[in-house]
Amino acid sequence: MQLRCFDPNCATTLPLHAAALECPRCHGLLEVEVDAPQQSASELKELWAQRRRSRDARDISGVWRYREFLPAYAADEVVTLGEGNTPLVRGHRTAEFAGVSDLQFKHLGWNPTGCFKDLGMTVGMTEARHMKATVVACASTGNTAASLAAYAARAGVAGRVYLPAGQVSLNKLAQALDFGAEIVEVEGSFDDALNTLLAKTSEGIYFLNSINPFRVEGQKTTMFELLDQLNWKAPDYLVLPGGNLGNSAAFSKAFEEMLRFGLIDRAPKMIVVQAAGANPFAQMWRTGAAMLTPVAEPETIATAIRIGNPRSWQKALRGVKATGGQVLDVTDAEIGEAKAVIGRDGIGCEPASAATLAGLRKLRTSGEIPASASVVAILTGHVLKDTNFIIQSHQKQSQHHQENQAEANHAHS
Ligand SMILES: *Cc1c(COP(=O)(O)O)cnc(C)c1O
Ligand SMILES: [Zn+2]
Repeated sequence: MQLRCFDPNCATTLPLHAAALECPRCHGLLEVEVDAPQQSASELKELWAQRRRSRDARDISGVWRYREFLPAYAADEVVTLGEGNTPLVRGHRTAEFAGVSDLQFKHLGWNPTGCFKDLGMTVGMTEARHMKATVVACASTGNTAASLAAYAARAGVAGRVYLPAGQVSLNKLAQALDFGAEIVEVEGSFDDALNTLLAKTSEGIYFLNSINPFRVEGQKTTMFELLDQLNWKAPDYLVLPGGNLGNSAAFSKAFEEMLRFGLIDRAPKMIVVQAAGANPFAQMWRTGAAMLTPVAEPETIATAIRIGNPRSWQKALRGVKATGGQVLDVTDAEIGEAKAVIGRDGIGCEPASAATLAGLRKLRTSGEIPASASVVAILTGHVLKDTNFIIQSHQKQSQHHQENQAEANHAHS
């Protein structure tokens, strides 16, 4: 395996462990170029099924189980918390709300630190340790920080996280503190936090941001696990929220590889949903622009996707186009409403995740998706990731209720 510049016109290659985050020639994104596996598709499927009976930590991990498609490490190098293995949960009230008969959620919030970032972090941290890093760092809207902090603690490496001051859910901040990371607060948005971090390149820090190609590799396995759970038959649609678009990029890569090596014969149409106040990718899609124009001051209640300048848009776009999918945005009100319905289905999620259900409903309402479609929606974060949001929205509701009650009493008297 090696690193390759994502731009096909450049295609510069580097050794796998070059510790580079961008192409040295064109400054574009890098990706891991996987080798053809030794086994046939059916042999791989059998091997992965067998590993579910194993007690090897790598076989138990829902990421490393699919390691034929990951960079190779010695067994004792792998930093794992048993991530992955998240179930598919069928939606009932949510299916009715969206207007589809066949809706399942893959809940990545049921990972060790409560969100999908763990799936990338296990590979990224393994690479960091392989490279003998002593400090690992990322910029984050909160979840990457919590995940980096946990895996850095497991790896025995110092973790440092750059967060937008005052804009991170306390639950996520508490996790990062509990796992012992150093926290650097930056005035401004996530994008400012990332720029502050990127300015530190000379200080010998290993970067674990979403453009880190090793994190993308780990997140890619979500789709291997999903298709494995569906007996290698893709649903019609896959819906996920889009912030920095790291997950969209990772899933795109997974579909390419699964198709290329014969694991599936059809990929689901990939639907990326952004928040209306942080929607540069959706705007680009709507207007058909060739380049992404960042949103200067992103604003949404869904803080995990409050990102104005998503780094991985080119990779994400390739997947959306290749699968015949699309990109759209939903308002904060739509996100809040969808989140409440996911809660009433006994599932729950953080606000950013609920953009999926809101987006699905919107596409059904406009008739762009048929009622008979099979849909898998990706829930990205656990319900306990943003408890303040839940308490506040219920307080508002009961206040509203009391006001209505008072008005009704007044009218009667
Ligand atoms: C990181 C995150 C997202 C956004 O994912 P991207 O890969 O940045 O598009 C969405 N939801 C939650 C809960 C997240 O933590
Ligand atoms: Zn390049």
